[in-house]
Amino acid sequence: MATGPMLDEGDPTAMALGYVASAARVDKSKYPNFVEGQNCANCVLYLGAAGSEAGPCPLFAGKQVAAQGWCASYVRKTT
Ligand code: SF4
Repeated sequence: MATGPMLDEGDPTAMALGYVASAARVDKSKYPNFVEGQNCANCVLYLGAAGSEAGPCPLFAGKQVAAQGWCASYVRKTT
């Protein structure tokens, strides 16, 4: 399931959603909703296997997002 190239931060959709491959680099002035500890791995939309480095996200068809990444569409996964 984990196939496809890594999503580039410069991808137009990625830029529109403020995607960064490392949540440590989220622009907090632009995205004040960001909370420390949020990342793709604990986002409900992340389709990567538990513990994976990267995985698909339906918002970026055909690409993989970094487990440590983040974007403005983040929704916390409830377990
Ligand atoms: Fe990562 Fe979730 Fe944004 Fe997809 S929607 S890029 S999994 S934070």
